[in-house]
Amino acid sequence: MGKALIIGCGGVASVAIHKCCQNSEAFEEICIASRTKEKCDALKEKLEGTTKTRISTAKVDANKVDELVALIERFKPDVVLNLALPYQDLTIMDACLKTKVHYVDTANYEPEDTAKFEYKWQWAYREKFKKAGICALLGSGFDPGVTGVFTAYALKHHFDEINYIDILDCNGGDHGYPFATNFNPEINIREVSANGSYWEDGHWVETKPMEIKREYDFDGVGKKDMYLLHHEEIESLALNVPGIKRIRFFMTFGQSYLTHLKCLENVGMTSIKPILFEGKEIVPLQFLKAVLPDPASLGPRTVGKTNIGCIFRGKKDGKEKTYYLYNVCDHQECYKEVGSQAISYTTGVPAMIGAMLVMNGTWTKPGVYNIEEFDPDPFMEALNKWGLPWKENFHPVLVD
Ligand code: NDP
Repeated sequence: MGKALIIGCGGVASVAIHKCCQNSEAFEEICIASRTKEKCDALKEKLEGTTKTRISTAKVDANKVDELVALIERFKPDVVLNLALPYQDLTIMDACLKTKVHYVDTANYEPEDTAKFEYKWQWAYREKFKKAGICALLGSGFDPGVTGVFTAYALKHHFDEINYIDILDCNGGDHGYPFATNFNPEINIREVSANGSYWEDGHWVETKPMEIKREYDFDGVGKKDMYLLHHEEIESLALNVPGIKRIRFFMTFGQSYLTHLKCLENVGMTSIKPILFEGKEIVPLQFLKAVLPDPASLGPRTVGKTNIGCIFRGKKDGKEKTYYLYNVCDHQECYKEVGSQAISYTTGVPAMIGAMLVMNGTWTKPGVYNIEEFDPDPFMEALNKWGLPWKENFHPVLVD
């Protein structure tokens, strides 16, 4: 039993909050705090009466450490679950340090003006968190998140050594728009328009955006084109998986999405450099976000499934072994259950589970940790219980 302060009230937070309310045995009380308090109040109103979890709301600017500290001191949570944007990670971690409260997030810090996400800023907090006796769990979404848990599970139960990991993120959903993003458009477009990279033989290999393309036949979805991207969990897995030789991350994109993205890039709409427009400074990508469909509005219209997982290759008892762990999630089933599409669902459920395990002491150790550094078994069990059951295949088709 405990109290969680949830920061942010967007697509992912909405699912995590629904799940906390389903899990009121663990989440006795939650406070939903965000920049726009009306969204928090609307969600509280929707959920009250359906749950034993007590819900309060607050307005907070998570860029301001003092505001966060005041809120934490007032609410006295056991854990802070950061579901705002990656730009707020460090201020929220600072506030947790000042108040000695555990911290959980789903995305690593990214400075607003450089579009380069790396763990170095958050890993720099290790000693401070250790000294304060509190735990920071980094990256408790699906990818990063479940992909790290899958890796720890594969290593614990199926391999003596993992040499190759391919993380495959497939969204077979169709929302009917020519162009829309399934989570925060600004974060999504920054991620996919950046150079790709993968880890091989102890160093990064950089690629042009969308340079490496493969086709894969996904269980529950069918054949899709997928493209190699840089992704944050590669950075921590490269350090935490002994004997690793290569880690790659692939995400599927439809032709319509790619054509629109190319055009938007070509005309300068994805730039994060501010420009002057009618005497006012605007960031083209933020303006684009304002005209695109809100990802939260895609729920009712998205049909199809997601399939996200990891293919492992390595050795067990001196023999070569392959193993594929993945989850298939249906957009419409998610929508019926919590009013959101599967991308928010597959992130919000692991966020709730991570917060629960840190809050109830199962995963608490002082310091800053990536998710694969904990015992995966309680998380794997919780995935099956809370809506993201996993499947395994011992003879998967490999990606060349
Ligand atoms: P949304 O844009 O839907 O929601 C973000 C929320 O944060 C909004 O409620 C927004 O408030 C709030 N917010 C933004 N800035 C501030 C601030 N300064 N102070 C307080 N609140 C603020 O994003 P998503 O729900 O799609 O994504 C949430 C997080 O999840 C992101 O960090 C994203 O990178 C991560 N993510 C992780 C994935 C994974 O698998 N690991 C997958 C998908 C997303 P307002 O309503 O006022 O705009």
